[in-house]
Amino acid sequence: MEDNKLYDILEVDRNASDNEIKKQYRKLAKEFHPDKNPESGDKFKEISYAYEVLSDPKKRATYDQYGLKGMQEGIPEGFGGEDFLSHLFGGGLFTGFNPFGGSSKRRQKGEDTVHPFKVSLEELYNGKEAKLQLSKNVICNTCKGKGSKSGKTEKCRTCKGHGIKVTFHELAPGMAQQTQTTCPDCRGGGEYIKESDRCGTCNGKKVCNESKILEVHIDKGMKENQKIYFRGEGDQIPDMEPGDVVIILQQKPHEKFKRNEDNLQLNHTITLSEALCGFTFVIHHLDGRDLLIKHPPGAVIQPGDVKVVEGEGMPRYKNPFEKGNLYIYFNIEFPHSHFTNEKNLKFLESILPEKPKFVMPSGENVEMVDLLDFTPNDNSQTSGREAYVSDDEDGVHGSGIQCAQQ
Ligand SMILES: [Zn+2]
Ligand SMILES: [Zn+2]
Repeated sequence: MEDNKLYDILEVDRNASDNEIKKQYRKLAKEFHPDKNPESGDKFKEISYAYEVLSDPKKRATYDQYGLKGMQEGIPEGFGGEDFLSHLFGGGLFTGFNPFGGSSKRRQKGEDTVHPFKVSLEELYNGKEAKLQLSKNVICNTCKGKGSKSGKTEKCRTCKGHGIKVTFHELAPGMAQQTQTTCPDCRGGGEYIKESDRCGTCNGKKVCNESKILEVHIDKGMKENQKIYFRGEGDQIPDMEPGDVVIILQQKPHEKFKRNEDNLQLNHTITLSEALCGFTFVIHHLDGRDLLIKHPPGAVIQPGDVKVVEGEGMPRYKNPFEKGNLYIYFNIEFPHSHFTNEKNLKFLESILPEKPKFVMPSGENVEMVDLLDFTPNDNSQTSGREAYVSDDEDGVHGSGIQCAQQ
């Protein structure tokens, strides 16, 4: 049997001249253009394809000799390739023959549903059982996912079951631009269920929305961005393996502690007298214990010093009896200006390590200048005494300025 389908589409004879084919194409393209005739998108698509082949001598020769089957190799770009040709093939020409390897659907896996889940540092330290309520699609129990009362479905007429709507725009005679969109009538499913046959429970959607509570076990030591999987708890879709629900932990910032892997960090401000003469303070820990921190007099704490309490960090995940460390970053609060009288200052000077001796340079080149407070980013002061500012762009490395920073 000779393949005459493309000639039939254009309603021309097999021996039609190029001119006749062109004329006939223009006539039919006008008649079946989707703009005028929205129902006939498929017909227009067929006409365009038939003209594409028959107006090209090389393609026409291939077609005459091998039929549509022979056109498989050179599917023109913009014609949707596989979908489009299988549509033509599906039109009864090669009944029982699918040149593209069958349409048997693999059991695909649905998409995962991802939920961020906020937890406190206390919860990550102590562990927690949390309940998470989420809504998900489940296969309709009434119709068992068929969507219809009878169990039957029809192919969507708009897209002929392909789930894709193809629209052609004729740019010039013989030149068509194609756009593909998900079929609006079947929403890509390719199926149509008669209104009277639709399942009353799911209204033909095959799935129902259900609210489900998941128990989330937050183990001690779990971390920010750690994922907790609930296999197969995602939305159910007919003929698909449901995806997973994935909980992603997000730690709320803690007002006191910062976490760094299994370690905890804490900023602590002490006074100058504590820095010199020792101190005692209490850290209220994440599990409710109070840690007593003692530092002896005379063991001086410098600004920026870091001390560690071993084994008081976060519990290790899966091994919670082992813990990281707790690092304490010290900040020292200096007394305000004029905090005491001259007599006390003299006394203070006498007990502190000796000041460097000052020697006035000889000669007449000594000039008395004012030392002002410096505020970084205050432009009015940058032009004058640049000697205080180092060459670095940040400009706060000069020793005199560091003092002012404290
Ligand atoms: Zn459709
Ligand atoms: Zn149903």
